Amino acid sequence: MEGLKPLLANPDYTHFTRRLLSLAPSPPQVLLIEGGTEEERRLIARLWSCAILCKEKNDNSPCLICPVCAAVLEDRHADILAYDGAVSKTEEDEHPSFFQAFNAEHARSLKEHLRSAPLGPYRFVYLTGIAQSRPEAPNALLKVLEEPQLSTLFVLLVPQREQILRTLVSRSFSITLPWPQSDPSCPDIEELTMSLALFLSNKDNFLGKISGKDVLTPQKAQIFLKSCQNSLVHVLSDMPHGPLEKAFVTLPKPALQYLINWLNEASMMVRSTISPVTPLRVLEAFAMRLYCLFNDGR
Ligand SMILES: [Zn+2]
Repeated sequence: MEGLKPLLANPDYTHFTRRLLSLAPSPPQVLLIEGGTEEERRLIARLWSCAILCKEKNDNSPCLICPVCAAVLEDRHADILAYDGAVSKTEEDEHPSFFQAFNAEHARSLKEHLRSAPLGPYRFVYLTGIAQSRPEAPNALLKVLEEPQLSTLFVLLVPQREQILRTLVSRSFSITLPWPQSDPSCPDIEELTMSLALFLSNKDNFLGKISGKDVLTPQKAQIFLKSCQNSLVHVLSDMPHGPLEKAFVTLPKPALQYLINWLNEASMMVRSTISPVTPLRVLEAFAMRLYCLFNDGR
């Protein structure tokens, strides 16, 4: 688990890990980890298990080298189950991995499994890709959570908590990892984001800029939309900085909900391999909707 070391050495994470480790002596039954990247959330889930199971702890910090920690970090601890709602049954058969598919069938067998006692003091259930799973899976999960499971600790991994059922969020203790920065390999994304912010107050020709790009690839459009999504997340967590976020923050809460839906819709269209609409048209339509939202009645 090499990735954990740089993460723990990253000063942006110091405050976060200290807070996480302080929860270990009386762990919440459901911990929701949002923010960061998928990889970082998975690493933090393992750190959380180590913090609770390690017998060589110093203060609340796990040693990360004892046999228990090693088993957790190498995904071979018998008391840890991991599920990924974004994995289909076929994908699972072709590429078996530690994170199994999370479908209604597995949710039912999980419920069965939880009736037996764990080998150690606690059993952990990691769940990711909940937003991408079929709707019956989150509902099956809710049923599992309804039964008291004193010795089972659930860890929900989501990019942002707004993406999953509110009833799941309300049962969880939520912690937020530092939000990922936009991709540094695409420096012109920052320029585009700035241009969109200015366009909303009639100060820049965003539409001209995107059509002037030689090729607006689906990947570039995707990174741009991801960057807008990050801005929205900052606004929802009351941490706005940057021009686009300062624009978003002026919108009333119901308008932000529209924005979440439009961003999801645009991302889906850009990702779709069967959509007849080009990424350029998707971004144009998204920008025009935003423009109307900002300028309607002002
Ligand atoms: Zn240890």
